Amino acid sequence: MSHKKYDAIIIGAGIIGNCIAYELALKGYKTLNIDRLAGSGFGSTAGSCAIIRLYYSSPEGVALAREGYYYWLNWPRYLNNIDPDGMAYYKNTGAMVFKTDLNKGLVPVMKSLDALGVGYLELDPEEMKTYLPNPDLRSFHPQKRMDDPNFGEATGPSIQGAVFLPESGYVNDPKLSTHNVEMAARKVGSDFMFNTEVVDILKKEGRVAGVALKDGTLIEAPVVVNVAGPHSYFINRMAGVEDKMNIKTRALRVEVAHVPSPAGVDWENTGIITSDSDTGVYTRPETGNHVLIGSEEPKCDPLEYVDPNDFNENFTDQLKTQAMRVAMRFPDLPIPNKNQGLVDLYDVSDDWYPIYDKSDLPGFYLAIGTSGNQYKNAPTVGAFMSQLIQYCESGNDHDKLPLQYQMKYLNRTLNIGFFSRNREINQDSSFSVIG
Ligand SMILES: Cc1cc2nc3c(=O)[nH]c(=O)nc-3n(C[C@H](O)[C@H](O)[C@H](O)COP(=O)(O)OP(=O)(O)OC[C@H]3O[C@@H](n4cnc5c(N)ncnc54)[C@H](O)[C@@H]3O)c2cc1C
Repeated sequence: MSHKKYDAIIIGAGIIGNCIAYELALKGYKTLNIDRLAGSGFGSTAGSCAIIRLYYSSPEGVALAREGYYYWLNWPRYLNNIDPDGMAYYKNTGAMVFKTDLNKGLVPVMKSLDALGVGYLELDPEEMKTYLPNPDLRSFHPQKRMDDPNFGEATGPSIQGAVFLPESGYVNDPKLSTHNVEMAARKVGSDFMFNTEVVDILKKEGRVAGVALKDGTLIEAPVVVNVAGPHSYFINRMAGVEDKMNIKTRALRVEVAHVPSPAGVDWENTGIITSDSDTGVYTRPETGNHVLIGSEEPKCDPLEYVDPNDFNENFTDQLKTQAMRVAMRFPDLPIPNKNQGLVDLYDVSDDWYPIYDKSDLPGFYLAIGTSGNQYKNAPTVGAFMSQLIQYCESGNDHDKLPLQYQMKYLNRTLNIGFFSRNREINQDSSFSVIG
């Protein structure tokens, strides 16, 4: 393996790393993905809720998610291959986003959806009831922790209403989807190495020259891409680029709860995605007729930044707090004594928007800071990162003249400079998983 010549080395074989490899291979690059874990998608992608939704705080975020949606609609067509291990699939459910002051009554989101011609319904609280299992639609804002004596007390007679987006859903198995991309990439010439850790970035004559592995092997390539998820900042330090970036990334510990649906409700087959910033939680239907519950990082919850190699993998109060917040909205939700769910990491950037960019080391590229919300965008990111690499490697200065990416499905260009490592912190951000 060490004698093979590669055009590009991709550090990480998660959903984004694999989509970049696939798209580079389609453009004729000989690629190698290296991952310290045992297979594709075994890192943070495995824990992903894999929700495909369109509401983001910026027009760019909405457009990127909308473009990505089309790839998931026909996954085998995109990959042009059938994985013998099975194919992941997208399940459409629709998504209900609650209007709150935090999301400005969703006015900016509706504006972005209108600009893209995306259909949605505006619902008043009475209309919301037909989608939800016996909901309590009073306001509980501001959110509190369980030890607050007023936890669970309503603070207002009614929430404002919601926007329902019929074109939203989730992918049933994010790890399998990543394996699907590996198999498609292998078919067009990509190589993969697992159980292999990158410990240094090689440099020669002022540019990147390859990687050093833990066992001492050196692998050369003129292009190296950091797609290391929650470990991204370690790789940036190896490359010596971290202190030259205005926006940094860190690993954030999160918990996701799984609780049974209310009795008599087939939420697995009839349920929708909900984003309730009044109580600070999002949900989606989960197999086994469960409700999967993630946090929208309400202000009262401390953010737990951790060392990705050494963090508490056990559940804490946070899991039950999230479940109890959903139980305020759906009082019939059973809260089991036994905790079920998962603990995982987001690779969070300073403004919760991703960094898709070159770096100050020529040949070294970044697809990081995905902040718990970029699974859905992986195929599009693969498409424009491969173009960005071509653009920069043929002598263009992306910092001065950012790549304008012509989307495949939307008749629209995306300014890739929006995702720059050197942007100012985007104050329009929700500073949460919503992006
Ligand atoms: C709990 C949770 C819920 C989420 N829910 C959603 C959602 O509903 N919708 C959505 O769109 N997004 C969601 N996300 C975000 C989404 O899953 C991520 O943005 C996406 O999976 C990131 O993919 P990746 O390829 O960049 O990173 P990862 O999957 O983290 O892959 C990075 C890989 O790099 C490897 N690596 C790191 N360091 C090294 C090294 N030194 N040498 C070799 N290999 C290395 C790791 O082993 C890992 O496999 C969620 C994330 C989490 C954790």
